[in-house]
Amino acid sequence: MTENTTTGKKNWRPATTLVHGGTTRSPFGETSEALYLTQGFVYDNAEAAEARFNGEDPGYVYSRYANPTVSMFEDRIKALEGAEAARGTASGMAAVNLALMASVKAGDHVIAAKALFGSCRYICETLLPRFGVESTLVDGTDIEQWKAAVRPNTRAMFLESPTNPTLEVIDIAAVAEIAKEAGARLIVDNVFATPMFQSPLELGADVVVYSATKHIDGQGRCLGGVVLSDEEWIADELMPFVKHTGPHMSPFSAWVLLKGLETLPIRVARQTESAGKVADFLAGQSKVKRLIYPGREDHPQADVIKRQMRGGSTMLAFEIDGGKEAAFRFTNALEIIRISNNLGDAKSLITHPATTTHQSIGEEARAELDINDSLLRLSIGLEDPLDLLEDVEKALAAI
Ligand SMILES: *Cc1c(COP(=O)(O)O)cnc(C)c1O
Repeated sequence: MTENTTTGKKNWRPATTLVHGGTTRSPFGETSEALYLTQGFVYDNAEAAEARFNGEDPGYVYSRYANPTVSMFEDRIKALEGAEAARGTASGMAAVNLALMASVKAGDHVIAAKALFGSCRYICETLLPRFGVESTLVDGTDIEQWKAAVRPNTRAMFLESPTNPTLEVIDIAAVAEIAKEAGARLIVDNVFATPMFQSPLELGADVVVYSATKHIDGQGRCLGGVVLSDEEWIADELMPFVKHTGPHMSPFSAWVLLKGLETLPIRVARQTESAGKVADFLAGQSKVKRLIYPGREDHPQADVIKRQMRGGSTMLAFEIDGGKEAAFRFTNALEIIRISNNLGDAKSLITHPATTTHQSIGEEARAELDINDSLLRLSIGLEDPLDLLEDVEKALAAI
């Protein structure tokens, strides 16, 4: 290795960090980051192997533990987030599972906001209790519920904000304070805000997780995730899990996601600008009942958004007047915006949560989360916003 651009350049602005941060060049001096598609590493002699294994020589051992391309991804996002350490994972769910499992043991208690991505809800509600970790789900926007749920054995709190799919916003600093007092680690799933618009660690969270599958790739190619936190916890608690259970990110995915980070700021800015235009258009339509967009003054938690976010969202949620039938008619009439459960993509994507992503949680849980049959979730992509507006307008007329 001849050059590592992470060292000594901590005061770069985000866009510069996302282009140069973490780059480690090989002796060839390649411009683009190298893809080290290798499982293992060879040692010059038996003594060198011994030194690598006992930690005297800090080099690479095996790609289940660490890999140079994955390290570049981790160092780049770590520099952006202002975290001490990061670990790349095979998917966003691997990151969430890892962050929770590394925080608790049997007999502990977890509090989570009930408005969660479906699989996150499964981990908190079903998986953790199976291993003797009780969990309480609260209405995340009601700070009193967090306080009331604290028990002497509460060791972790988990939330996402804005939430999926209703884009509620939770006061991260307020929950962080409760977590600190309780001696629990606050884990924030920051996918919907993206690292561009929200920095949970600065707001007092202990751990940030991402599904890199979403905006970080942003072009629908690879799954990936990342856990960011302090050096000590990552080394002592998280790393043993990574090493021994095998959820580490593959070098190929890391390479794609590393290149995704380079264009993240311009993509998120453009997608957010377009989302704002679509939101403003929908807000004035008689066939649209409820519009939730974190970039608008009429968002239910607009005051919290002002305090903790630096931008709106690439996502919006709205209800079409006329229930499932009208919502389906609208969705089916769209030509540019495609039907898919993914988000953060270059392609605009629409989802009917009640019949897809949130079908399995059941009607009662859906009602609790305000996910009714009229609700649609729209992820805005990189198309010309005028084409998107025309697409939406035509589909509304088709209802
Ligand atoms: C997609 C998503 C996840 C899961 O990520 P995968 O990469 O699909 O495993 C977790 N949390 C949120 C908020 C998500 O949107």
